[in-house]
Amino acid sequence: MTLSADRAISGRTALAAVIGDPVTHSLSPAVQNAAFRACGIDAVFAAFTVAAGRAAEAIAATRTLGLVGLSVTMPHKEAAATAVDRCSDTAARLRAVNTVVRRGDLMIGENTDGQGFLDSLQRSGGPDPAGARCVVAGAGGAARAVVLALADAGAAEVVVVNRTAARAQVAAALAGARGRVGAGQEIADADLVVQATPSGMAGHGAGAVIPVALLGPGQTVVDLVYDPIETALVHEARARGARATGGLGMLVHQAARAFTLWTGVEAPVEAMRAAAEAQIAARTQSRPAEA
Ligand code: NAP
Repeated sequence: MTLSADRAISGRTALAAVIGDPVTHSLSPAVQNAAFRACGIDAVFAAFTVAAGRAAEAIAATRTLGLVGLSVTMPHKEAAATAVDRCSDTAARLRAVNTVVRRGDLMIGENTDGQGFLDSLQRSGGPDPAGARCVVAGAGGAARAVVLALADAGAAEVVVVNRTAARAQVAAALAGARGRVGAGQEIADADLVVQATPSGMAGHGAGAVIPVALLGPGQTVVDLVYDPIETALVHEARARGARATGGLGMLVHQAARAFTLWTGVEAPVEAMRAAAEAQIAARTQSRPAEA
């Protein structure tokens, strides 16, 4: 468990936490503690390692101990959706919860990933998804949240490109009639391309999943990978004249949405972003230099 040690903790101090396994590398404690500090809220944010299969116990304990709420990460997002008392419409459609909010004894499951993606797209001056032709590479939890958010925001079509066809179908179905499974070459005609696999992530061996040679001016690329802050894909897309951003914005904005759900207070997004950037920079420095 990590607690913020730079301010006094009293009997009144509220507690929120992230549950997951592994969780020790989660950025959530740094980001949420920065937010509590910036807003002068007497609360701390901890990280709890909770083994697979024990999400329901952790959520029950959250109720018993009166935590403000939880962030939920791998491998608990699906299990949390069945362990809470009620899911938001988005969490129910995704069958995945990344945020639990305690309202008295009622535990409510939310999923802020998709809205965090849209907030970040808007804040970074990205295109309005309404009417946009979108390609999403990947069909995991992050991709599915983005597919649903883009469809709800009025995208003209959402094409899902994924290694495993069956998962691509499930993701594309979230966009209803505007969703379909497609091939990587279709990025040539896309307004918005979202990279939602671990490709390009520090320490990850996956090869490039986006055929970057097909990118050009007028297109926007969002790589959901946030470590490194600017991936090879971001650099290559920009070199071909496309707008491109990494995943840090989505990370910060999904956390900001969670913070507001727990506190009712507008999230201090810049303080949260600075905390995340500092953590990633520290990790980058502590990694052995690449040969
Ligand atoms: P996930 O549920 O494990 O899904 C991973 C997806 O990537 C799957 O579609 C998988 O394909 C595909 N994939 C994995 N390795 C691949 C490879 N070598 N070649 C081609 N495709 C590959 O993971 P997730 O939670 O969706 O996360 C995906 C990425 O998004 C991660 O890098 C994560 O850090 C990032 N992310 C960012 C944010 C943010 O806020 N910025 C939030 C969540 C996640 P198969 O279906 O074929 O296995």
